[in-house]
Amino acid sequence: MPLLKNVRTALWFVAVPVLAGLSASVLAHEPVTRARTPIHIPDLPGHVTLKCDFHIHTVFSDGLVWPSVRAEEAWREGLDAIAITDHLEYQSHKADLSTNHNRSFDIARSAGADLDLLVIKGPEITRKMPPGYLNAIFLTNSTSLAVTNWRDATAAAHQQGAFIFWNHPGWEAQITNGLTLAAQKTVLLAVAGKTATEKGRKKLNLPYTVTNFLIGPDEPLPVTIDLVVSFTPASTK
Ligand SMILES: [Zn+2]
Repeated sequence: MPLLKNVRTALWFVAVPVLAGLSASVLAHEPVTRARTPIHIPDLPGHVTLKCDFHIHTVFSDGLVWPSVRAEEAWREGLDAIAITDHLEYQSHKADLSTNHNRSFDIARSAGADLDLLVIKGPEITRKMPPGYLNAIFLTNSTSLAVTNWRDATAAAHQQGAFIFWNHPGWEAQITNGLTLAAQKTVLLAVAGKTATEKGRKKLNLPYTVTNFLIGPDEPLPVTIDLVVSFTPASTK
């Protein structure tokens, strides 16, 4: 069939240049352009101003993003430091991923090292109110916080020198769900590393942080400003 043969030949002559063009552009694995958008907040004398996000989830709890991608997007948005705070008690993708409470941090830290991004280990302690949701960051081992009683979890965090903060003090669903003044005091004392029976401690001197529910990709990152004397985990704490 000459006609069919001619059509095949014509298609071949079209296909070869098209594939050649693809190999030059798409198939050549050319480096993707990476861009960081800096956040311009000036340093103060003797200090470095770090832009941070201390509340981030990955696929290792209820997030939809691999830990190394979290590091990459934080770097692109101009952040200097992040904390990986996956839930210990809630793993949406448990059927697909092993329960290793330190793994998401390890992956993000490796990616962050290539970007000069400081990555901090800190799981989220997740309970009904009280105490609600707490982040315990600057940990060395998240697994020791995977216990039933939340007071044991905060105690284990304090043993590792954690900085603990209450994630959602303005979350109406939790405030109206039995948050009495006594419960609030109990939580704040636990966050501050004190026992609930301590009397007369009125000023807890807790700092401000901003957090969100970062789950999916490309969500806007909140920024906590941290003035440090050097770009190290110890100074950031
Ligand atoms: Zn969270």
